[in-house]
Amino acid sequence: MSEYQIMVKKFGGTSVGSIERIEAVADRLVSDYHNGQRPVVVASAMSGETNRLVNLANDINPRYRGPAYDMLLASGEQVSISLLSIALEKRGVKARPMLAYQLGILTDSLHSKAKIHSIKTDKLRGLVDEGIIPIIAGFQGMSEEQMITTLGRGGSDTSAVAIAAAMELDTCEIYTDVPAVCSADPRLVKKASELTELSFSEMMEMASLGSRVLHHRCVELAAKYKVKLHVRSTFETREGTWIMREEDRLENPVVTAVTHDASTVIIRLLNLPLGTEVLSTIFTALAEGEVMIDIIGQGQANEFQRLSFSITEEDLHRTLDICKNVLGNEVDVAYDKDVAKIAVVGVGMRNHPGVAAKFFQSIHEHKIPIHLVTTSDISISAVIGREKLQDAATSLHQSFGLDQD
Ligand code: ASP
Ligand code: MG
Repeated sequence: MSEYQIMVKKFGGTSVGSIERIEAVADRLVSDYHNGQRPVVVASAMSGETNRLVNLANDINPRYRGPAYDMLLASGEQVSISLLSIALEKRGVKARPMLAYQLGILTDSLHSKAKIHSIKTDKLRGLVDEGIIPIIAGFQGMSEEQMITTLGRGGSDTSAVAIAAAMELDTCEIYTDVPAVCSADPRLVKKASELTELSFSEMMEMASLGSRVLHHRCVELAAKYKVKLHVRSTFETREGTWIMREEDRLENPVVTAVTHDASTVIIRLLNLPLGTEVLSTIFTALAEGEVMIDIIGQGQANEFQRLSFSITEEDLHRTLDICKNVLGNEVDVAYDKDVAKIAVVGVGMRNHPGVAAKFFQSIHEHKIPIHLVTTSDISISAVIGREKLQDAATSLHQSFGLDQD
């Protein structure tokens, strides 16, 4: 048994966004180390870097998402982990930068959205026992074909939780540029407040509805392996938000947060032939093309049927190609980018009537145009006109009693 506490600490892009910040992270790690912790660090690329790389690839071919794309994107993390290791060594603490293949993070072969299959922990444990801080490149893995893969944008959170789970730890720290998960994006809603606790299911719902604080898959893994997440600021020492099992929480409010996603697009197919065969064909083709479908609306109009569904902006080109391919020239394929998704999330909704009523009262009072609506047992979401996003978020936040005084 070791007397020290091993802690996986993930640092996001802004936390390692400049040399000054990397040095500050190194100071913090050294102090944790001297206080008896044994950090296992996972880092993202320096902020803006992955976007820059995506743009370079897109300039050549926006549709290509094969192995070379992942090789390119994964390079950002190689830079940040090396710099952070140099900063630690300067402070007299031994550090070992490690890429996914060196550590043994094995994934499937779905480039640009790979899933982790397994992680070897023997090397990590060896390093920790020797007092060396492992600094691991987040966001990347290696496929069976020994190609570099990436886990989807924001995927280094998932790397961190997967490593914590593989090491059988019960907590994982996610250091970021905000002090906590908030009841809404504070840039959108002035009266948003910091949440001290959240349940895994709420955070998962928030992540899939557009909150970018944590990668969706990271929360899924944390829930599955019962790894508590502590989302906290890199620049402050106080605690942030704890994300844990519902049964471990003191209370479960009806609505915990308002989330939004501005990068939503609606695809509209206006003159589809009647019947379910065409629906099955379209959605099968989209699934094969790895397009994530969000909200679906369908209705009949005379001898045709209309279908609309929302997707993320990133999948727009691919979706249009697939639709045109499957449907030919007879069907009009249109899209609407001037939309955004807004949602209210809370586990308490399960046993509280009237949430939909309040949601639509608020939407109605503020004359918010609404395109698609869907619900789950712990959320209500709608795709609305993008110009009304701030109004919608602010008013929902207020009517569900989330405004801080
Ligand atoms: N650098 C990657 C991205 O920007 C992964 C991450 O930051 O989590 O998506
Ligand atoms: Mg992130």
